Amino acid sequence: KADNAQYIWHPMAHPGAMKKTTPDIIAKGEGCWIWDVDGHKMLDGVGGLWACNLGHSNKVVKDAIVAQMDELPFYNVFRGTTHVRAIELSKRLVQMMQPEDVATVMFSNGGSDAVEGALKVARQYWKLKGQADRFKFISLRQGYHGVHFGGMSVNGNTNFRRAYEPLLPGCFHIDTPWAYHNPYTDDPIRLGQICAELLEREIVFQGPDTVAAFIAEPVQGAGGVIVPPPNYWPLVRQICDKYGVLLIADEVVTAFGRLGQMFGTSVVGMEPDLMTIAKGLTSAYIPLSGSIVSEKIWNVLRDGSEKYGAFGHGYTYSAHPIAAACALKTLEIVERDDYVGMAAKQGRLLHQLLQTHFADHPLVGEIRGQGLIGAVELVADRDKPEAFDPSLKIAPRVAKRSMELGVITRALPAADTVAFSPPFIVTDSELETMVKTVRKAVDEIAKEIGRM
Ligand code: PLP
Repeated sequence: KADNAQYIWHPMAHPGAMKKTTPDIIAKGEGCWIWDVDGHKMLDGVGGLWACNLGHSNKVVKDAIVAQMDELPFYNVFRGTTHVRAIELSKRLVQMMQPEDVATVMFSNGGSDAVEGALKVARQYWKLKGQADRFKFISLRQGYHGVHFGGMSVNGNTNFRRAYEPLLPGCFHIDTPWAYHNPYTDDPIRLGQICAELLEREIVFQGPDTVAAFIAEPVQGAGGVIVPPPNYWPLVRQICDKYGVLLIADEVVTAFGRLGQMFGTSVVGMEPDLMTIAKGLTSAYIPLSGSIVSEKIWNVLRDGSEKYGAFGHGYTYSAHPIAAACALKTLEIVERDDYVGMAAKQGRLLHQLLQTHFADHPLVGEIRGQGLIGAVELVADRDKPEAFDPSLKIAPRVAKRSMELGVITRALPAADTVAFSPPFIVTDSELETMVKTVRKAVDEIAKEIGRM
């Protein structure tokens, strides 16, 4: 613990705070459970970080990784060389998406890389089409797209932007269709229309021939678990088509079953030109991500002029053979054993349990989610609704107390929201334990602040 405090720089945490409040040191994972170095056993209600869909320590996946280690631990896929696992994985992914108009996959390591790749493909596409003015990106407030300069620039949360400004020029943000927090209307369908109109107004204001792409998550995860109204994405597609703007779906969290179908885009009716994938691709056993490109874009990149040289993007570890072997095995299990159906079924139970245990709680403003993502927003006044003073740190306190009681959840910074995204293998009784334990933690915090 002393070495952790002295030597580790924790991502997404204030360096000083991490020295004062020791993070839990995780030592072991098995199924939906993890253990820390003190032997404290906890239910992993966040699947590592919206990622470990198969659960921890799946032997079949581990064996596939070891076998690949024996066969070929590493080779690159730049220009003159490639390897068998990369070819197999590209083919499998493209075929999984058929009959969608998908042509190919560009591999990278994490979600932020995949976003960066997609943004760069969008820019190069328009240059090759002879429309170099189309360089701008539009995105949603509360959206999360990773931490590289492109991703940060389209991120919709000040926390991830402010310390690094000025960011990429030409990035603009519009309001998210967030039923619980919007100044426009209580009617979700009207909200979908209004927010789609905001996109149209922004495109027209910028000048349609200057906008490269609109990027967004099908359902926003880290920004607060925000599910758009059902008419939103079909309307957005119409607007993108009207003005020739590309649509990028950031499916880093949602791809491979999390929302109850293989891809989140199908759940919400979003028809993208480009898509990013990561976490569930390898169930987080090894880092791997990808930017998925439609025929429309691929044809232009493949046949376009050589004015800009080779596609100037790629990483030493792009399509790393061990990661590719891990992804192939993960996808095989997901498809063969119907993990997507499992996520859909357990997702329905999760939402029932959240309603049963939280609907009448005085601190709960809204319960929301989709598939096997759930969230509970805690508010000071549920009638208005009015948020807590952020300095009270209500959701982080609930997450901390839940952890002490044996359940890991995630406190999201956007609103006082506690989020759940357990592995797909979570059982009925594990889900019940998870929800009841967090309810107990919320009760305890409510008592601490004199609200129960
Ligand atoms: N995009 C989305 C939608 C994400 O949720 C995340 C991470 O949670 C990222 C991008 C960034 O992924 P990574 O942390 O692997 O770089």
